[in-house]
Parts: sequence; structure tokens; C-alpha cells
Amino acid sequence: MDFGFSDEQNMLRDSVQKLMARHAPSAYVRKLDRESAYPDALYAEWVKAGLLSMPFPEEYGGLGGGAVEMAIVAEELSRTSADFCMAFGGSVFCGLNIAHKASEEQKRHWLPKLLSGEVKFSISMSEPDAGSDIGAMRTSAVRDGDHYVINGQKLWATGAAAKNNVINMYVKTDTKAHYRKGMSLFLIDNDTPGVELRKLDLLGRRCTGTYEIFLKDVRVPAHRLVGGENMGWDVVLSGLQVERVVAAASCCGSMQAIVDLAIQYARDRVQFGRPIGTNQAIAHMLADMQTELEAAKTLMWRAAALVASGKDALREITMAKLFCSETYVKLANQGMQVLGGYGYNMEFDMQRHFRDSRAATIAAGSSQMQRNLLANLMGLKIQ
Ligand SMILES: Cc1cc2nc3c(=O)[nH]c(=O)nc-3n(C[C@H](O)[C@H](O)[C@H](O)COP(=O)(O)OP(=O)(O)OC[C@H]3O[C@@H](n4cnc5c(N)ncnc54)[C@H](O)[C@@H]3O)c2cc1C
Repeated sequence: MDFGFSDEQNMLRDSVQKLMARHAPSAYVRKLDRESAYPDALYAEWVKAGLLSMPFPEEYGGLGGGAVEMAIVAEELSRTSADFCMAFGGSVFCGLNIAHKASEEQKRHWLPKLLSGEVKFSISMSEPDAGSDIGAMRTSAVRDGDHYVINGQKLWATGAAAKNNVINMYVKTDTKAHYRKGMSLFLIDNDTPGVELRKLDLLGRRCTGTYEIFLKDVRVPAHRLVGGENMGWDVVLSGLQVERVVAAASCCGSMQAIVDLAIQYARDRVQFGRPIGTNQAIAHMLADMQTELEAAKTLMWRAAALVASGKDALREITMAKLFCSETYVKLANQGMQVLGGYGYNMEFDMQRHFRDSRAATIAAGSSQMQRNLLANLMGLKIQ
């Protein structure tokens, strides 16, 4: 399989690299992480550079990019911070679901606003008792004239409190039906009366921000329902493959940053009169890290290429998401070891990659759920 990139794709990578170098220097990233502050100024630069428009169809003002272009952007954003990719991904994945499943009127209303930065999107599906088990979802919407009334509680909603954010929330509209047949998607402004957000104090990914959401008699106009009543699962599935490719690409970008930092440090740090990288124990660890990173990238690009060619790639994207996220956690841990005590110091970036990495095997489908899926695809029946 040829993973050769076109001139346009190489230019895209180059321009995102330059944008991030100019607008997200280390001091800015550290400040946002320390203050748990949303990257507003950087997001505005992404909009200006057309990154938000990149994967959308041209008829809605998009640039017509696909899974490979998305993966390139995800890698480059995550080389600076995997958390930034969560802010970018929230808007783009939700927007793509609208492009796939909304009515023509909804697309014409929402997509230009998203692409121009007038609104942002975030996804909210998980609940206190419904994580891997989406079927345990309790939050529900009941029709009341030309509105729906929503009550319940959501958890782990990343980016929910960003300025002008519209929460893409999945709730039950038929509480007796299986979630695949009884869940619907609503677009809810984050300042709608009855919506209360509480920021969670997380180990990592501290700037995009992850929230608990309480909903009490929240009235949402019926025209904010996307994809039809009880069709929420259909909407989720329409974007799942690209979302998992991007999750894998994000891990690869951050791993590249970790390996680069570790190699540089191994060259610079002198103990016993010579760079620590001249010790075979450290050099071999770095050689293994580079090899595992390349293996992860190979799985990820294979999945991205298959998705881009329109083929069903469930098996390949699941393997890529599983391997890339687990390798990311492993490499971040090894990166800490290479940096010794400096890795443990908040003034160095390695600890942020270490903290951020830990969510990768949990969010967007845990490693165990990926293995369950793969085992099922292999004909094994997991209970
Ligand atoms: C940083 C972060 C950001 C997130 N952002 C969002 C977001 O924006 N929107 C959103 O809706 N959600 C979001 N999530 C939620 C995420 O999708 C859930 O955390 C995830 O689905 C796991 O659910 P849980 O945390 O309730 O764990 P549980 O489902 O309670 O799982 C706990 C452990 O049990 C394992 N487990 C559970 N069931 C099985 C099984 N059948 N077989 C084997 N092992 C099993 C899991 O793999 C895990 O190790 C985010 C999570 C994190 C950490």
C-alpha cells in the first residue's frame, strides 16, 4: 500500500506546522495548561487558515478534504498538544455528522456558521452510568408542541463551555427502545436556560475543558433535532470511522513530539562526562520508541487510506485506534524515564504529554471495547 502524499497534502502539513509554530509557542501552551483555559486565539487562527473548512464539501463552503487530510492536521496539532486536537475534532466531527445526516435547511444554516467560527460544536453522549455502555443512557427528550423538553445529566463533555458552543447532545427519545433505535441528536446552545455546566478537574487535557452537564426542563426547538427522531445512532455511525482515524493520528502526532523531545534530551544531557544517549540502555529505549511510533503510523495511514478510498475499514481503524493509543501511553512513560527528574518537572513539556496521553486509551472507545470489537470481527463471541 502506497502512503505517498500529494504535493497539496505536503503543503497542508507544512502550513499547519508553520501556523502552530507561530501561534502556539511553548509559553502559550504551558499557560493554557496551567490556567485550564480554552485556546480561543488559536482556534480563531485555525478558522482563518481554513482548517475548520478543510473536510467539508465545497457546496457548503468547505475545501473538500478527506480522512488523509484530517489525519495530517490531527498529527500536526497534536505534536503541540493532543488537547488542541480535541477542540478541533469536537467541532469538525459534529459538523461532519451534520453534513452527512442533517436536512438541507439545517446544513445551510449550521455549516457556514461552523466554518466561519461563529459557532463551535462539542459532543455529549456519555453519562455517569453510561460510558462504554451507551445503552444505559437515561437523559431523555419529550416532545411538547414545537419543542422538546430535555431532562437528565451528562458527563465528560469536552469543550462544552467554549464560547458560542453548540452542544451536540445525544439523548433518548424512546426510553423503552434499544439505544440504536431510541436515541436522537439535538443541537443545544450551551447557555440555554436549564443547562448547567460544571468543569471537571482532570489529570490532563486541561485547556479544552471537560464538563458535567445538568439538564432541567431544557426547552429545545424541534428544528434542532438532527437526522430524525430516534435516528441518533445512525448519525453517530456516519462519522465514526473518520473520528477513530483522527484519534489514532492525534496519538501519532503526540508520540512524534515525545520521541523528538527524548532524543534531543538524550543528546544534550551529560552525566558521567558524556551524553546519556551514549548509554546503550537509553539509546535502545529510543530506538524501540522510534520503531513503535513507525509501526503505529503504518497502521494509522493504512486505516486513513482505506477510509479515504471509501472502503469499509472498521477492522483497520479499530486496530489503529487500539495500537496508537496504547503505544502513546507507553512512549510517554518511557519519555519520562529518559528525562529523569526533569521529566517530572512542570517546567518541561514531557509531563504534559504523559498526563494527556493517559486519556487516549479511555476516550473515544476504551482499549477493552476496541478489543471486544476486534474479537467479534474475528468471529469470537465476547459476552
Ligand atoms: C478526557 C476525556 C474526554 C472525553 N470526552 C468526551 C466527550 O466529549 N463526549 C462524550 O460523550 N464522552 C467523552 N468522554 C467519555 C468517554 O467516552 C468514556 O470515558 C468512555 O466511553 C469510557 O466510559 P467510562 O469512563 O464510564 O468507563 P466504563 O465504561 O465504566 O469503563 C471502566 C473500565 O471498564 C472497562 N469495560 C467496560 N465495559 C467493558 C466490557 N464490556 N468489556 C471489557 N471491559 C469493559 C473499560 O474499558 C474501562 O477500562 C471523555 C473521556 C475522557 C477521559
